[in-house]
Amino acid sequence: VLVGLALAFFALALWLSHYMSRKAIVPVAHAYQRQREFVADASHELRTPLSVLTTSMEALELEDRDPFERKVLDGMKAEARAMTKLTGELLQLARSDSGDDRLAFARFDATAAALGVVEKLRPMAQAKSLVVELDTPSELVIDWDREKMTQLLVLLLENAIKYTPEGGRVVVRLAVVPEKGGRVLTIEVQDNGIGIAAEALPRIFDRFYRQDKARSRQSGGHGLGLAIAKQIVELGRGTIRVNSEEGAGSTFQVRIPLQA
Ligand code: ADP
Repeated sequence: VLVGLALAFFALALWLSHYMSRKAIVPVAHAYQRQREFVADASHELRTPLSVLTTSMEALELEDRDPFERKVLDGMKAEARAMTKLTGELLQLARSDSGDDRLAFARFDATAAALGVVEKLRPMAQAKSLVVELDTPSELVIDWDREKMTQLLVLLLENAIKYTPEGGRVVVRLAVVPEKGGRVLTIEVQDNGIGIAAEALPRIFDRFYRQDKARSRQSGGHGLGLAIAKQIVELGRGTIRVNSEEGAGSTFQVRIPLQA
């Protein structure tokens, strides 16, 4: 059965390369739009086989397995998880590129949402003995897209945890500040981790850019997280920037204008 699953992975890769070569023959004028559609289609099509594979592997786990089989299964599950994450991220970027992505405005407590994110990621932080602090007013009711803000916080906090060595400290700050007759939501995620090299700074929001490919891949990253974070912020006409020093840590700062 394990060999069967390995073959299924192989078939998936083969199908993808076939699909790519088929889609590659397009008129130059529409190349960009076709490419976007291709990424969206391919990511979408990959979701079903990937979820079938994941379910099959979970079923296999229920049986008694020797240590070798268990190790192989764990490896395959990790790869399937990484592919599922990648296809989801590609789909989201493609949707946003095509202008189909919209903010779903609603009133919600941003402090409660941030607390939910911190609690969700606490096990990941605890595994590295990291302290995660949340510095926000006890309640911060805003009119924005709760799901998108949550995703943005997850992306930034996950990175802060990933790129901070054992025993470090991460702080998440949220506030609403007045500005030019309106109000601005500010989000800050600060860590005292490995930091970012000066020459890498201008590129970290680029798609597939990773400062250290091996380290990023090991932690399940493909270099799309910050590209998605930037897209979310720009959807809300906000800004995202980073202050970082190699070896000392990074601070990501987001500013999003709120509607009157
Ligand atoms: P990845 O999946 O590699 O984490 P991202 O797009 O989220 O992709 O980040 C791009 C790159 O930016 C990372 O590979 C890493 O080099 C750098 N980076 C992002 N956040 C941090 C951080 N908090 N500390 C240090 N480096 C970071």
